[in-house]
Amino acid sequence: MKISLLGATGSIGTQTLDVAQNLGLDVVCLTAHSNIDLLEEQIRKFSPSLAVVYDENAALELKKRVGGMIEVAAGMEGLKQAASLSAADVVVNALVGNVGLLPTVAALEAGKTLALANKEVLVCAGEVVMPLAKKNGVEIMPIDSEHSAIFQCLAGTNRPQKIYLTASGGPFRGKTKADMAHVTPDEALAHPNWSMGAKISIDSATMMNKGLEVIEARWLFDIPAGQIDVLVHPQSVIHSMVEFEDGQILAQLGAPDMRLVIQYALTHPRRAANNFNRLDFAKHNNLTFTAPDMHNFPCLALAYAALEKGGLYPTVLNASNEAAVAAFLNKEISFLDIPAIIDKTMDAYNENNLMVNIDNILAAEAWAKDFVTKNRR
Ligand code: NAD
Ligand code: MG
Repeated sequence: MKISLLGATGSIGTQTLDVAQNLGLDVVCLTAHSNIDLLEEQIRKFSPSLAVVYDENAALELKKRVGGMIEVAAGMEGLKQAASLSAADVVVNALVGNVGLLPTVAALEAGKTLALANKEVLVCAGEVVMPLAKKNGVEIMPIDSEHSAIFQCLAGTNRPQKIYLTASGGPFRGKTKADMAHVTPDEALAHPNWSMGAKISIDSATMMNKGLEVIEARWLFDIPAGQIDVLVHPQSVIHSMVEFEDGQILAQLGAPDMRLVIQYALTHPRRAANNFNRLDFAKHNNLTFTAPDMHNFPCLALAYAALEKGGLYPTVLNASNEAAVAAFLNKEISFLDIPAIIDKTMDAYNENNLMVNIDNILAAEAWAKDFVTKNRR
């Protein structure tokens, strides 16, 4: 199997390379935003034929270093080239944010099997991406622990009546808005169970991550929002569950190690041995489940509302969240401003009679990001 890895320098990207090495897969393309030091190391280790750096200046610098060995491309055109590379049969999309939309479309149009970590793409464009995958006979393999769990539980069985998405509750589980008024980016980045990139770590702290995952599940499994329940399960042992019409429930359990999830996305329907982390039941003799606190964590309710309104609202939700999270990480707004700004942006949006297509998604995204910039404070 030959893989093209978009977002190689990130949390999912580096773990994908561990998995590729363990499985002995060929890596034919690597991409990064601007971290060319790490990318160069990865190029020397995996010898791809193409490297893409989104930042044009960093791409020029990389070309000086490795241009004699391999092709180096830049920008969105480079990402689309990486996603449709003829030498690759699987594209792993480990980009963060809606920047992954056009590369995802390129991969599907080129008929590549798609292992998708980049959930923001499904949030904004599930309505476009899922039919496109079907039309091109492409399978989308989820790289998100909850969705991989559901995918594994559903294998070869009937449609579920309900999906239970489990949530750790993040670093501020049990806290009130008053407790969270002055939390810093460093406190919000300290996830109790998983080590992840900055954006998803903040999303986990606000519970927006679970909101995005509800929308992701809606599209991946073609199931209405009313049949997707969130359960706070701080131990992160059960990664999600499905309930069938006869009342029986299947759950998937495992160590909180994304390499297990990435590996299954690449080996499905087979399984392969590895020496990644294992679950130790002796450390987990107390599994608990509670309903989410949507009052103190309004992002989850905002995501359900966006899904209910449909159309371009999930794009507006996602884009205003991306902009608000970036502003919070830059210390320009407070933690509680994040849901407030998203709410305000969704209220102000009034063009939902437009069709959900790529052009309108990109326009709604640009509008929402601009609205956040102008209305942050
Ligand atoms: P990350 O920030 O660690 O890595 C993101 C990667 O994308 C990096 O290689 C970066 O260079 C690249 N990138 C970022 N912005 C870019 C841009 N504008 N143009 C081109 N490349 C760009 O993020 P991550 O934690 O690996 O998450 C990746 C995706 O996987 C996210 O959608 C996240 O929600 C999802 N996910 C992550 C985890 C996890 O454990 N990290 C778990 C489940 C789902
Ligand atoms: Mg997840």
